Amino acid sequence: MATTALSIISASPVLAKKSKGAESFEYNVDKFADLQILRYRVPGFEELTPKQRIYIYYLSEAAQTGRDILFDQNGKYNLAIRRTLESIYKNYKGDTNDEDYKAFTVYLKQVWFANGIHHHYSTDKFTPAFSKEFLINEVKSLPAEKLPLREGETADDLLAEILPVIFDPAIMAKRVNLAAGEDLIKTSACNYYDGVTQQEAEEFYAAMRDTTTSQPISYGLNSRLVKRDGRIYEETYKIGGRYSAALEKIAECLEKAKEYAENEEQKEIIETLVEFNRTGDLKTFDEYCIKWVEELSGTVDFICGFTEVYGDPLGLKGSWESSINFKNHEASERTDIISKNAQWFEDNSPIDDRFKKEQVKGVSAKVITVAMLGGDCYPSTPIGINLPNADWIRRDHGSKSVTIENITEAYDVASQGTGFNDEFIPDAHTRKLVSEYGFVADNLHTDLHECLGHGSGKMLPGVESDALKSYSSTLEEARADLFALYYMGDKKILELGLLPDKEAYKAEYYKYMMNGLMTQLTRIRPGDNIEEAHMRNRQLIARWTMEKGAADKVVEIKEINGKRYVIVNDYKKLRNLFGNLLAEIQRIKSEGDYEAGKNLVENYAVKVDADLHNEVLERYKNLGIAPYKGFVNPRYTPVKDENGNITDVTVSYNEGYAEQMLRYSEEYSLLPTYND
Ligand code: ZN
Repeated sequence: MATTALSIISASPVLAKKSKGAESFEYNVDKFADLQILRYRVPGFEELTPKQRIYIYYLSEAAQTGRDILFDQNGKYNLAIRRTLESIYKNYKGDTNDEDYKAFTVYLKQVWFANGIHHHYSTDKFTPAFSKEFLINEVKSLPAEKLPLREGETADDLLAEILPVIFDPAIMAKRVNLAAGEDLIKTSACNYYDGVTQQEAEEFYAAMRDTTTSQPISYGLNSRLVKRDGRIYEETYKIGGRYSAALEKIAECLEKAKEYAENEEQKEIIETLVEFNRTGDLKTFDEYCIKWVEELSGTVDFICGFTEVYGDPLGLKGSWESSINFKNHEASERTDIISKNAQWFEDNSPIDDRFKKEQVKGVSAKVITVAMLGGDCYPSTPIGINLPNADWIRRDHGSKSVTIENITEAYDVASQGTGFNDEFIPDAHTRKLVSEYGFVADNLHTDLHECLGHGSGKMLPGVESDALKSYSSTLEEARADLFALYYMGDKKILELGLLPDKEAYKAEYYKYMMNGLMTQLTRIRPGDNIEEAHMRNRQLIARWTMEKGAADKVVEIKEINGKRYVIVNDYKKLRNLFGNLLAEIQRIKSEGDYEAGKNLVENYAVKVDADLHNEVLERYKNLGIAPYKGFVNPRYTPVKDENGNITDVTVSYNEGYAEQMLRYSEEYSLLPTYND
């Protein structure tokens, strides 16, 4: 599970412990559409050993090699479209001030950012602002060898295929459709299913499920489910199977990395992961997850494979992602304290005793520095990650959770002075609270969410882990957020020295409510519902607590001088309401109460107050801030001796956005354009 950044607002440079040099680093790279591209620093890279740096280098090569897998998973025409657009971009001879050309470059930058033609967050298809004629002319002016053509195909054939996909709003309109009552597979453009209905897919996996085991594999995680000639079967992602060319190269990079691993456990982890890429056997994947979660002594760590399931409307299929990182030992003292007290938090949680873990296993948490982002972590990245996702592995072996502080630092520095707080926070007292404690409180919230929230609680025996179906992601994120929110207001947090004073938690509470009730709506288009799991969860929590506390006016939306603001009147009562909702959502998860989960989400999380939405959009627009941010990676260059052996690796931060994307497409494109 992953946490995405949303509410990083400017924080006081006094309290925020930023790395040396953070303030003078040039973070801004590019800005277009609703996106701002930043750069992140890798503080501490120079202090690693050359061996660790080479380890990171080879892992990073594996991280980039999976990029095209994700493009194909996100939609079956994505590689054809990206390669066509890139060819136009590289060979363009016309006027660069031409309106069509300018709109075309924005579209291409959006496609790069989203790893496909659908918005990375809303999953709506992009609307191109250039003309069809422009695209047709440009494609036809290119020689055939510069176009991604199938054997015997012409430019006209290519255009006939991709034009409707790009320009017709009715075709492949959404990557992930979660609208209740529709066939979620037929109405979703993602490429995890082909030719099957939702019912067929659900029946297929229901039949596969072994109900006698308490250690079920992650059914369907690494395959596309297809129907051909009336037969339904899985095309497994493996060497010799689907995505073979990329997976082979990834295995090669991992094998090289293995020689530089820090310990025997890391070597075994890599071997097991490579074995999984060879066989596609999900039992091997579980073995890999267990080895990975139990390896705690190394500094360098990584994720590199089919992981999160947010891109599949049924929540089964793993999108390819990678994060190469190393531990920030100093900042991890904070998360060590949290892990050591995990059992106390579990015992004192406001949930029913029947759903508590008697023994919290191996909650390990650390603060990390990312060194490379790939696949579904790039360019948009989570700020916290908690894995593995399999409930039984978490129960029996624990989970690893991370807070990515060089990313939150970049967000924080880049967001200073935008005027956001002045616009949306009505009073100087609250603004001061947020600016003083925002950075510290945000990071602690992420720590608690990842380290304790996701790992807390247990399922009742016999309850299927996917009982909540399409509502499970939202409810799981809500559960983790509520656990964090509830405890941030606990005096235990002060005793443990995790917040600087008893007012600090209010900064997080205020921001959370403002965000969930109002400001996160900047990410939604007028008339649309909320779809993304983290956004749904935030509105669910904010709306539910506001409604349940209405009689006591715990939280209100108030109009002041013609503008509406969120007002929190009673922080103590708000904390109790967080506790009540946590208890209910834990019950829903532990019992697998689908109906109750569905009602919560549909009643509180999905629909948007149109009037308030318009007001928020208008006010936000005036600030000129891009609502979404993403990152270019640093570049690593091997240092070689006279025999060509790599002896060290250096890092540099000067690659531009388009430059990096074109280089990745050049150096890491191993898959055919059409993978059907
Ligand atoms: Zn989460």
